[in-house]
Amino acid sequence: MSVPHKPLVYIISAPSGSGKSTLVNELLKTVSDLEFSISYTTRAPRGSETNGRQYYFISRPEFEKMIHEDQFLEYARVFEKDYYGTARRFLHEAERNGRDLLLDIDVQGAAQIQQKLPGAISIFILPPNRKTLEERLRKRSEDCDEVIQRRLTAATHEIENYDRYNYILINDQLEDSIELLRGVVRSERLLRGGRPLSSDEDKIVKLADCCRLANVRERLKPILDSFRTPGDSGGIDPR
Ligand code: ADP
Ligand code: 5GP
Repeated sequence: MSVPHKPLVYIISAPSGSGKSTLVNELLKTVSDLEFSISYTTRAPRGSETNGRQYYFISRPEFEKMIHEDQFLEYARVFEKDYYGTARRFLHEAERNGRDLLLDIDVQGAAQIQQKLPGAISIFILPPNRKTLEERLRKRSEDCDEVIQRRLTAATHEIENYDRYNYILINDQLEDSIELLRGVVRSERLLRGGRPLSSDEDKIVKLADCCRLANVRERLKPILDSFRTPGDSGGIDPR
């Protein structure tokens, strides 16, 4: 009998507007056997979002029913408003299909998953500074001013959790970030594969190592400062 597949679970968190959806979409195009866990949420669809694609959009009573039925691996109220949750069935499906699972969840959800699945790999995406985050939120043109301000305030709190993550990715140049994110996913698969690595594979692991928390700490301070003192431009070139 074959050994059942134990999916690698990748958690990705980021302040809203950092570019997480953009990066995740690019990642899913080029990495095989990686399933995106579509979350349930009580928030309304934005822009061109459709039910069952970015999220399952459900009512609050429906969400609460799912909580009572213990259908969630984790769930949280985000921005002190709407519920978001990861259904357990996605983990079971990934297991059955021999695939790994990618969770795009907030810092509260990430903490719950890290407790339940200690082997999960966590990645935190940061914008280069606060000003850039605000520009990206405005450029996306999906939220009104009040919502943008709420997201910026939330970001200030969220980024303080960066050190609970295994990897930190500063999303400055999009192409570089895509390459790094792909590197992290592939590196973890290689490292857990338990076989000797070729020199090309070794390069992937080294690339991913650039994003390990211990290796980016120095570059984080000015980014964190730009959120702590928003009057500043946060002006650094993080490269
Ligand atoms: P999130 O999913 O984190 O809320 P999005 O992926 O929606 O963020 O990105 C927010 C906006 O920023 C989008 O308009 C996206 O095209 C843009 N964006 C994402 N990454 C970059 C980048 N590296 N450089 C410039 N713009 C970016
Ligand atoms: P948005 O409204 O911008 O799509 O998402 C807001 C926040 O909710 C993001 O930080 C996103 O990662 C988070 N989120 C999305 N799905 C889930 C989920 O299933 N669980 C948790 N805890 N957070 C989620």
